[in-house]
Amino acid sequence: MSEELFAAFLKLDGRACLVVGAGRIAETKIESLARCGARVRVVAPQATEAVRAMAGASKIVWEQRPYEPSDLTGVFLVVAATSSRELHERIFAQARRQGILCNAVDEPERCDFYYPAVVRRGPLQIAVSTSGRAPLLAQAIRKELEKQYGPEYGPWTEELGRARSEMLASGVAPEERLARLQELCTRRPAGGTPSGDDAAAPGKIWFIGAGPGDPGLLTRKAWQLLQSADVVLHDALVSPEILHEVGPYVRLIDAGKRCGKHSATQQQIHEELIAHSHAGSKVVRLQGGDPLVFGRAGEEMAALRDAGIEFEVVPGVTSASAAAAAAQISLTDRKRASNLVFLSAHRCQGDFAADWASLARPDSTLAIYMPGGNYDRIARELLDVGLPPATPCVIVSQASTPRQLILRLDLCSLAETPEPPAPALLLVGEVTRAEAIEAAAAWGEGGESLEKEPVR
Ligand code: SAH
Repeated sequence: MSEELFAAFLKLDGRACLVVGAGRIAETKIESLARCGARVRVVAPQATEAVRAMAGASKIVWEQRPYEPSDLTGVFLVVAATSSRELHERIFAQARRQGILCNAVDEPERCDFYYPAVVRRGPLQIAVSTSGRAPLLAQAIRKELEKQYGPEYGPWTEELGRARSEMLASGVAPEERLARLQELCTRRPAGGTPSGDDAAAPGKIWFIGAGPGDPGLLTRKAWQLLQSADVVLHDALVSPEILHEVGPYVRLIDAGKRCGKHSATQQQIHEELIAHSHAGSKVVRLQGGDPLVFGRAGEEMAALRDAGIEFEVVPGVTSASAAAAAAQISLTDRKRASNLVFLSAHRCQGDFAADWASLARPDSTLAIYMPGGNYDRIARELLDVGLPPATPCVIVSQASTPRQLILRLDLCSLAETPEPPAPALLLVGEVTRAEAIEAAAAWGEGGESLEKEPVR
């Protein structure tokens, strides 16, 4: 005996359907059957207001009496929705003998079919079944789907249907028809987005901070725009987990460029942003962390201003915040750090030229972005300007992702540390000290292998 269900959508128009019972639960079944054009007969001694009203309006027939076996004659399907299990058992057995489909409400063993949780958008229906195992899960999934597939999908499905019939009527070659319809289906329906107010407008560009990698750290606004955009141009820094969040109809373009291995020049990115905007697309420029921290948003915004294109910035969680959170370090501290400096250890062109003397103060926390390949040099520069060798520091690699690594060091050991995978951020300063010691104990129980104790 197979428990697998055959999924189907039934055409009930003109078919005789019987509902036994006319209480609250029966009411919803009666309505849904009548909506599909079924000839619904209801047999029940009592009925709710709504059922009486439907009968009064001749949408259904209500026979005010108990069920009789002859009620099944000529019926296509029957719904048993009374409070009597014995009656349900009888109805189910009789229906089975006569080859009539039966659904006894809340009794899966007396059902030939289940009611799925349904999202209805005009001709588009998305039905969810858990084979009767977990109706609440089906409802939760339906709610998610409702958000994802808003009311705009009704008219959109109609429109696709019209386009298809027109092509069929005009004799477009099958391959071309398929290609054109496929292209149409990848577009987003016009109108609503899950967000309403934050809906992306054509031609506008959103600079969005993708945060450090964990999709949970995206802002709600960022997430909504990632669903409703036409085009998302993203950097190499944006994590695969975040890219996974991008809506199914969105065109993803990798504008990834890293220093030294340009896959697209900055000028090309400006041109691409402008071209998508001119084409009327809703464009998202997605950058790792916060777009206004060590990104190219400054140059890109200038290019858009010159081109007269409207844009908006949606900030994200910058990696210094994510690294500090990962290592449980407060970046500022009333006793230990009154300065917080964000600096980059790397420049695309020209030299690595931070003014270390002015930065390296005992009451400062340094959040050093792009330290890769320069750990020894950073350590030496900081020691040269007089920071003690025991100054604690922390490297957080791939903060907030499942690949996150935390290395607790000091300036002395920093110079020799094996390079952790990029992207990584280096935090230097007294704020990293106490926590390093406390956390060392906790990390001892199953910490990462790259984890290091501060060398003293
Ligand atoms: N706009 C980004 C920074 C871009 S510069 C932000 O606000 O975070 C790129 C540098 O950011 C990397 O070299 C690294 O230092 C840091 N970075 C970005 N994502 C990171 C992550 N998940 N973990 C650690 N560092 C990260």
